[in-house]
Amino acid sequence: MPTALVTGIGGQDGSYLCELLLQKDYTIHGLLRQRSSAPCMSEHMSHLAASIKNFRARVILHVGDVLDPFCILKILSTVSPPIDEIYHLAAQSHVALSFHLQLYTCDVNALGTVRILQAITTLGLQARVKFYNACSSEMYGQAAQSEQDEKTPFQPVSPYASSKAFSFWLVASARIAYGLFAVNGILFNHESPRRGLDFVTRKISHGVAQIHLGNACTIELGNLDARRDWGHARDYMRGVYDMMHQRAPEDFVLATGESRSVRDFAEAAFRVVGVELRLLSWSGVGTKEIGLDRRNGQIQVKVNEELYRPAEVWHLQGCASKAWEAFNWKPDVSFEDLVREMVEADIALLKAQNGMPMKSKI
Ligand code: NDP
Ligand code: GDP
Repeated sequence: MPTALVTGIGGQDGSYLCELLLQKDYTIHGLLRQRSSAPCMSEHMSHLAASIKNFRARVILHVGDVLDPFCILKILSTVSPPIDEIYHLAAQSHVALSFHLQLYTCDVNALGTVRILQAITTLGLQARVKFYNACSSEMYGQAAQSEQDEKTPFQPVSPYASSKAFSFWLVASARIAYGLFAVNGILFNHESPRRGLDFVTRKISHGVAQIHLGNACTIELGNLDARRDWGHARDYMRGVYDMMHQRAPEDFVLATGESRSVRDFAEAAFRVVGVELRLLSWSGVGTKEIGLDRRNGQIQVKVNEELYRPAEVWHLQGCASKAWEAFNWKPDVSFEDLVREMVEADIALLKAQNGMPMKSKI
């Protein structure tokens, strides 16, 4: 039975990857941060623990932090059977926050990767473990190309993107310097009902659910014109696994090849609950655009310029033909189905929290 170490196992991607590796009979070691106010189990992990048979025997959770190299050294040097594959997903993953927490973001995302790579080489494990690094389409920044692939130069415009680009080159150089099987996945935005509430897709799906259930009146958003290539996290973790099982280590883009604006996402999310939005210009303080429900004229979306970023990535649209050619990867979930799944899951979640009967699970 293969053994994997997943950092960031408690996040969106970590939970889907965990499910996938369990289907493939892996023993999983997960690195989770200790929380002061709750037991060391993320919401997603608690959900998996409750729904998967023998979860605690098959998924061993370690309290740790990528800021502390000794956690990684200890796991890599003590667990038995030894780790075969490392999926490094842990990160300060929020771009807007990275402008406020610049040093911290670089410490976790860039130096966190150094700590793991150095642990591998210090223990002399480079010939036996494989390493996956979670890189991001944000690294392309304001790239001139209308479609981005593995050959597109990086032009990061945020501390988050810079930290990921730093980690990209570390991994690429560890491949050359130590012969490590090390892979960078350049993943375009991928979402799901497990996405953090501060990311725009989940903010919208949760906000639409709140409005639909009568708990709120409006959603406040930033730049509606930014375009992203949005896929489903489950599809992307399938691609990550395949990258790690190629004959030779290479870097791959995963993307749907379709780009949509934040406005498109908001309109699609409102359509799920039967609301047709009309976006109007309006010059209020800090608010320049409003979205009206066409039927009753109610304001559903406000744009707040305070939510704009100091530097924006305007257009991301990936080309994943290398992954298609190497391992037949393509996403299964369409944009419309992704939006519907997220809105319906949030409605179900809120109903459950309000003590109403729940129709579906995350
Ligand atoms: P999440 O933010 O949901 O998950 C990140 C996880 O990392 C969280 O569980 C978090 O723990 C953990 N973490 C943060 N800091 C540390 C630390 N210092 N030590 C240990 N663990 C830490 O992100 P996703 O699951 O969406 O993304 C996974 C990876 O993929 C990230 O590296 C992200 O940057 C990258 N990525 C994601 C994309 C996306 O669209 N989702 C696109 C491209 C790249 P806690 O819960 O305690 O905060
Ligand atoms: P990112 O692509 O990794 O930065 O993912 P996000 O979901 O955080 O942001 C995607 C895009 O949505 C960016 O261009 C943001 O500027 C834009 N956006 C607009 N309004 C919001 C908002 O209220 N929150 C967030 N997080 N992003 C917003």
